[in-house]
This record gives sequence, structure tokens and C-alpha cells, in this order.
Amino acid sequence: MIVSVVPVGKVEESILKCVGEALSSAFPRTSYTILGEEVPIPRRAYNPFRRQYRAGLILTRILEVAEALGVDRALGVLDVDIYAPRMNFIFGEAQCPGRAALISLYRLRPEFYGFPRDMRLLKERAVKEAIHEIGHTLGLGHCSNPKCVMAFSLHIGMTDRKHPKFCEACRLEVEKRIREVP
Ligand SMILES: [Zn+2]
Ligand SMILES: [Zn+2]
Repeated sequence: MIVSVVPVGKVEESILKCVGEALSSAFPRTSYTILGEEVPIPRRAYNPFRRQYRAGLILTRILEVAEALGVDRALGVLDVDIYAPRMNFIFGEAQCPGRAALISLYRLRPEFYGFPRDMRLLKERAVKEAIHEIGHTLGLGHCSNPKCVMAFSLHIGMTDRKHPKFCEACRLEVEKRIREVP
């Protein structure tokens, strides 16, 4: 499948590239492209009371981008705080199954937790969340194995605990589902 990595608002190029590379090695027969121009963050997604952006509204925009580009999947990468109803925040969201996914770097940054900047750690976390969300677009649900990339992350410790890889059961599921991607 072809995945387009889409910057939504300003995002470091090296992170987009790193995420794209990781997706093409995590998923069989997958290649990536990076959208050269950033997609503006939809203004209506901003909730001034929460000072956060509603992920679902941004996801709708990502889906439009996927359709316009004619790619199998589009992964939006953004650097603002996002939420979903009944959640204080989320690291990412995806259609399950579907063509659109997104991740936010905002709470993946060590400095958010009072630690020094660390690009290597930020990229490692972004890669895990990106693989996780694209896994959802193939219809995979959450995995009960805490080390599997499809494990749900409620907080950053859970992201750090998981590996950037699928457990055996999820890997077989990916193999099966990816064959159905046209
Ligand atoms: Zn998930
Ligand atoms: Zn798993």
C-alpha cells in the first residue's frame, strides 16, 4: 500500500521522513510519500475552552487529502494537543478501518514532561504511534500484549513500554488485511 505522510501545520521534515521509513518497513509491500506542503490545521477543530484540537475534525480533513492524492492511506502528523470526546487527550486517532489516521507529537516530546529535548526519543515514540494508527486503518483493534505496538497507550509510559513491532498474532492479522488493500 502507499501511505502519504502529511504535515498538518508546521512539523520537522526529519520526523516525517523517519515515520515514513518506519511505516514502509513495518508493513509488507508498503511505500511512502511525504506531502511537500503543509495542510493547515482546520480552525474549527480548536476548542478554546479546552485549548486543544478535536482529533475527529482533523481526521476528516486527512481523509479528504487521502482522496485527493489517491493514496491508500494518509497519516497526518501534527504538533498540537488533540483530544477526543471523554478523553483528556489522545496521542493519535484513526479510522478503523479506513484511509485516514493522525498522530500528534505534542505529548510525545520529552520536554512536555519536564525532560530535556531528545529527538531520538521523540522519533521513537512517533514511529510507534504511527504504526499503531496505520494498524487501526487496516482494521486491527487494541492488543492485550503490552509490548505489542497495537497496545493502547493511556499515558507516555505505555508508549515507551511497547515495541515498534506487532506481536505474532497482530503481525498475521496485518498480513491478512494488507492483502485486501486494493
Ligand atoms: Zn489505538
Ligand atoms: Zn498484538
